[in-house]
Amino acid sequence: MKEGNLVHKLLYEETKATKLFLWLFYIFFIAFELIYYYIFPNLYRDGEISKHREGLGLWYYFFIFVIFPFVIYFKKKGNPYIIKYLYFCTYIVIDTVHNLIIYMATDKQFAAGSIVEVVFILFSPIFVNKKYFWTVSIGMVLKYGLIGITIHDVQVVAPMVIYVILSAIALIILIRFESYLHSLTNAYEELRRKEKLAVIGQMAAAIGHEIRNPLSSLKGFTQLQQERYPNTNDFYPIMIQEIDRINSIVEDLMTLGKPKEIKFSKVSIEEIIAYTLSITQQQAEKHVVSVETTIAGPLPPIDCDSKQLKQVFINLIKNAIESMPMGGKIKVNVKVLDGTKMDISIQDEGCGIDEESIPNLGEPFFTTKTDGTGLGLMVSNQIVQDHHGNISIKSSPGKGTMVNVTLPISQINRKN
Ligand code: ADP
Ligand code: MG
Repeated sequence: MKEGNLVHKLLYEETKATKLFLWLFYIFFIAFELIYYYIFPNLYRDGEISKHREGLGLWYYFFIFVIFPFVIYFKKKGNPYIIKYLYFCTYIVIDTVHNLIIYMATDKQFAAGSIVEVVFILFSPIFVNKKYFWTVSIGMVLKYGLIGITIHDVQVVAPMVIYVILSAIALIILIRFESYLHSLTNAYEELRRKEKLAVIGQMAAAIGHEIRNPLSSLKGFTQLQQERYPNTNDFYPIMIQEIDRINSIVEDLMTLGKPKEIKFSKVSIEEIIAYTLSITQQQAEKHVVSVETTIAGPLPPIDCDSKQLKQVFINLIKNAIESMPMGGKIKVNVKVLDGTKMDISIQDEGCGIDEESIPNLGEPFFTTKTDGTGLGLMVSNQIVQDHHGNISIKSSPGKGTMVNVTLPISQINRKN
């Protein structure tokens, strides 16, 4: 969803909630006032016409209705978010003043509480806003606390207790709303990520296919030139190296587009690790990085596509080396878990990954390196998932990173 669209949607929802709230507020307010101050007294006092409200009297109604034009004003200004607070604050202030006027000078028994206050608390979850909820609940309890202290009356405890209980109910509803919304958002994000992947994949496969052929002739001719002019070959090795780099990026991209058929066979994991280390050895030496491998006991061969798994470990070891520009040590640990899974961990002493970046790992093109592609982890993740395995990353910035790859030893009994 586009950002503008999202803001628009949220605004729309808030306006809907505010409308609902205003309807409830005025209906309950008018009904309560009519029943409590006019119908009831008329029925039970032999038709004696009751006095209007005491305290603020008719001013009370004036304030309650005079805030309505502000609703229109704030809505026009595109800020409906403030309306609920406006109502709550206005209500609290005038009702407190009203109560103080009535009860301060006299020794009348305190009788308070209005259905409107119940509306405020019970319907606060419709805004799905914790800040508003706490403002209302705490505000209401404080209001009675203040009145109680000022007029020295313990009667205020009754509405306070009732409102605390109602707040607890409202809080439960609010938390449910929020958690429901949260999982919906997550599901939506996941879907969007998959869609993005699919589109990138298709594009990449198409482009990659077109690029590969000219690239291989380019490489062939460059090699030819290098042989032909052995004295001026300063740049040829660099050119070939760069062509290889483009090639490997294209290959990564193509893995996403057309997930290759996996050819499972029984392979020894030691062999895969040894191969990976031999490929990355040169880069490791250049960065003064040493690698320590610990293999726990004799390991069973695992069902996998060895070519693809090599790709995974090359990506992970490269990341580990690149995280330690000043050199360091990489520990590779292989062990069997529960007799059914193989756990391979790659631990470095590098720069680590800050917390904000963790959710972005594996996103296409997410990289913090100037010459990175941001495809390595994504491709590795895809391959490991195709093997019904799992990659998890733990990192503490400045200390290092540990990447765990878990793979099932046997693929039998699995349906794709
Ligand atoms: P690239 O290596 O091309 O940047 P990757 O997908 O392999 O792309 O990695 C994405 C990002 O994840 C890297 O740019 C880096 O910020 C972070 N990262 C991955 N592995 C490590 C690691 N071992 N230590 C620190 N950061 C890492
Ligand atoms: Mg990488």
